Amino acid sequence: YSAKAGRSGVAVYDDARDGSGRHRLEAVEQLRAGITGGQLLLHYQPKLALATGEVDGVEALVRWQHPTRGLLFPDAFIDLAESAGLMSRLTTAVVDMALAQCRAWADDGSLLTVSVNVSPSNLVDEEFPDEVAGALHRHGLPAAALVLEVTESILMEDRERAVRVLSRLRETGVGVSIDDYGTGYSSLAYLAALPVTELKLDRVFVGAMTGSSRAASIVTSTLQLAHALDLTLVAEGAEDQATVDALATLGCDIVQGYHLSRPLPADQLWSWLQDRKPSEVPFPS
Ligand code: C2E
Ligand code: MG
Ligand code: MG
Ligand code: MG
Repeated sequence: YSAKAGRSGVAVYDDARDGSGRHRLEAVEQLRAGITGGQLLLHYQPKLALATGEVDGVEALVRWQHPTRGLLFPDAFIDLAESAGLMSRLTTAVVDMALAQCRAWADDGSLLTVSVNVSPSNLVDEEFPDEVAGALHRHGLPAAALVLEVTESILMEDRERAVRVLSRLRETGVGVSIDDYGTGYSSLAYLAALPVTELKLDRVFVGAMTGSSRAASIVTSTLQLAHALDLTLVAEGAEDQATVDALATLGCDIVQGYHLSRPLPADQLWSWLQDRKPSEVPFPS
């Protein structure tokens, strides 16, 4: 399996091409202004529960409406936010937008769980759990409305602190998911000890499962592991019906991917939900 390549072209700042630091400084200032100036927005991708055919949640994915470069995808600015110390602010803005949207959908009659991606620096911030609890309270939402997606790389930085922060988050009742599962280097024993509720199998395995028996075996064994640990298994990156059918047959809990829907602006996601008919439930035939 190959490493994931950036899809969205050129990063706002590329370390390798600028020795002076001036360009980086400008990019950091633009990003800072973008975060505080309301240029970030979220697209939402539905998560379908295979047992019921219901969409029970969405993943919020950040975009930056850049004043001159157009709509930027996270590949273009997340690394910069992280290295420039802006991730705490970015995550605060994203959590707030995601919960405001979740509240609005709840008021319109659908309680959709919203998943938000968080970065290593969020997980070494001891104030993060209280901040999340405060945001939920402000929006009048139960903790179960929020899932935080973390990657295994959080465990590289400051393992003990990250586990402490994760435990506090779990105590408040928010869900915690291990994103891109299978691409990191953590031992199964170590992951099993983490306070998490969900494993999200990386799309390299999901995308290959119908064409490769090795990839299919990885999906099957991850599913067994997740269920043995009482965790929900989410498969990301399902791009065709055959993959969705195969996942349903294996007993995967939740599926996400372009075949169901691309990430959409909130209003389009809402229309998509309203237009969906029960007959579109992708059960195996
Ligand atoms: P991720 O959390 O693993 O999100 C899944 C990515 O795969 C998204 O890209 C999504 O659009 C894409 N995707 C979904 N279904 C399919 C599919 O069927 N096929 C393929 N090829 N791709 C699919 P996106 O939105 O560009 O986000 C990329 C990454 O940026 C995310 O990966 C996540 O790690 C990060 N990210 C996104 N939003 C945030 C955020 O608010 N905060 C932080 N810290 N990171 C974020
Ligand atoms: Mg994610
Ligand atoms: Mg992922
Ligand atoms: Mg990812």
